Amino acid sequence: MKNWEKSLQANYGTPKIELVSGKGAKVVDCKGNIYLDFLAGIATNVLGHAHPAVVKAVSKQIATLGHVSNFYAHPNVLELSAKLISMTGDKSARVFFCNSGAEANEAALKLSRKTGRTRIVATKDSFHGRTMGALSLTGQPGKRDPFKPLIKDVTHVPYGDMGAMLKKVGKKTAMVIVEPIMGEAGVIVPPHGYLQALRELCDETGALLVFDCVQTGMGRTGDWFGYEYSGIKPDVITLAKGLGGGLPLGAMIALGDAATLFQPGDHGSTFGGNPVATAAGLAVIDTIEKKSLLARVNQIGVELMADLALIEGVHSVRGAGLLIGIEFSSPIAKQVAAICEAKGVLVNGNSETVIRIAPPLIVTDAEISKFLKIFTESVHEVKE
Ligand SMILES: *Cc1c(COP(=O)(O)O)cnc(C)c1O
Repeated sequence: MKNWEKSLQANYGTPKIELVSGKGAKVVDCKGNIYLDFLAGIATNVLGHAHPAVVKAVSKQIATLGHVSNFYAHPNVLELSAKLISMTGDKSARVFFCNSGAEANEAALKLSRKTGRTRIVATKDSFHGRTMGALSLTGQPGKRDPFKPLIKDVTHVPYGDMGAMLKKVGKKTAMVIVEPIMGEAGVIVPPHGYLQALRELCDETGALLVFDCVQTGMGRTGDWFGYEYSGIKPDVITLAKGLGGGLPLGAMIALGDAATLFQPGDHGSTFGGNPVATAAGLAVIDTIEKKSLLARVNQIGVELMADLALIEGVHSVRGAGLLIGIEFSSPIAKQVAAICEAKGVLVNGNSETVIRIAPPLIVTDAEISKFLKIFTESVHEVKE
């Protein structure tokens, strides 16, 4: 794609496909090819493409009042924050709106400084975003090293390793940040009891427990937030990706005592809580509730994982709801992803051995069957 290289910086690598339209779980490229979108803008388009509820809410809002800044309130920001608070189950929770996952984690980082402490413990291989603060939390040397020096006092320990956490988290720790399930790292589910043990450790030391639910939030795992299966609550939840149903919208929700750490002047974002983006957020939540999508995601996620595990050449399948990592016995992930694409299915080859799928939550039974058929064929073609 020469036009891309002519005008865009080289930070992404050049895409092979130019998409022009979409409906539900399907997208269409500039040549008229139709794809089943099992990546959904990287776990973002929870209601698929051009969902009528999102289209209606956004169109109405942009035609009424497009932007107000944070000098003024407007109904959507009030309604969406109240809704998010009720979803956390903690009436004392308070919301800060921003535009992306990195910004939500930047906000959490700044909030943690208001504890008077500076030390942070995060996990190896984690992904928390690319801006300098969020990158300091991200546990991937390949993404970090070219941009050193990063923020000081951040230690990375192996994910799921409570022993390592116990050694590093103490009375000087401002916050511990983890993904309830690691997304970019290849859909890594922590060992049983990990999140609960982190809660205990943070209670003992007074460190804030931050769950980065940017990828696992908004119904993706079959719950509103990816940690809910653990039964505990963090001090801070960060959200983005699915929250705006395709519009840029992020949030940092502080619970309990953490909710009052920010004082006037401490933080801000011009677009944060923008009327149009929050209109989309409200439409997303309303639709998930009306269509009982959480229950459906739980059910189809379990079935899909079971079916994927039966494919010859698949070593293991992991995840929750519709965030699924498929690990192969041999390094064929990139080839399988390429064949799927040629056959009209978009998936993400996370590494040499793992494919990640994150279809829209509105994906139909027929679309899942079609995906399974093409995916199985693609694996077999590589193996032959
Ligand atoms: C995608 C992602 C981010 C970063 O979100 P951006 O909107 O790209 O800044 C942060 N944390 C997790 C867990 C993510 O998956």
